[in-house]
Amino acid sequence: MAIDVKFWGVRGSIACPSPDHVVYGGNTSCVEVRIGDQTLIFDAGTGIRNLGKDMIDLKVTKACIFLTHTHWDHINGFPFFVPAYNPQARFCVLAGHLTKQGGVERVFSAQMADPTFPVPLSAMQSKLTFEDFTVGTVLEPVAGILVRTAPLRHPGGVTAYRVEHGGKSVCYVSDTEHVPGHPDKGVLEFIRDADLVIYDSTYTDDEFPAKVGWGHSTWQEGIRLCRAANVKRLALFHHDPDHSDTAMTVIEQQARAQWSDVFAARDGMVVAV
Ligand SMILES: [Zn+2]
Ligand SMILES: [Zn+2]
Repeated sequence: MAIDVKFWGVRGSIACPSPDHVVYGGNTSCVEVRIGDQTLIFDAGTGIRNLGKDMIDLKVTKACIFLTHTHWDHINGFPFFVPAYNPQARFCVLAGHLTKQGGVERVFSAQMADPTFPVPLSAMQSKLTFEDFTVGTVLEPVAGILVRTAPLRHPGGVTAYRVEHGGKSVCYVSDTEHVPGHPDKGVLEFIRDADLVIYDSTYTDDEFPAKVGWGHSTWQEGIRLCRAANVKRLALFHHDPDHSDTAMTVIEQQARAQWSDVFAARDGMVVAV
């Protein structure tokens, strides 16, 4: 069975709808991985709202939602994920960075609590379960689909995911900061020989020195890592909201000039692996 990847939100930090963000899109992180009738969701940024509408149209009522971490741009679409209000639906929310901090359910509950949100988590009538795992665990949400996990370098901790099925693999590596000149050995090992890597490309190498410590990487580092790890394709992801369509077009052209197997992810884009 093929692995189909659909990008529903490709921005980092904050949603940025504007006439300058039409081509690449303004929603924050949300990626759907579909394998047969199984739906795996990675992050619940504002992009998950449109994914929810699509799932209702397609009558999909179950999914696992894997969180890299719980910064706003990765969770604040969840209250608007309409399928979670359907009593007939079933979702599991998983996170690997909160085992020592009270767990992911507490964070989701706080996000939807008075006085910052009017509808409590308990109003979601679907069968909603929360699971905290230790980073490094190999998950098998459905028989035959493996989801490997690894830690990334980001304030508060982040989990990277690698989905494997039928000899194919897709890695979701966002958010992470690199050290220039020192390729992250953990990431290199984690993404080795993958068919597709979705990588935190928030900045350019020129912008990076002013952003050290912010927890993000560059498209150039993404290419360096993917080449060194024999990766087949790279999706630039978690775009800086300050990168307009014009800026993103230049970035994508420059990236392609360096390596032909790279593209900048856009809202609504589907990639077959
Ligand atoms: Zn982020
Ligand atoms: Zn973050």
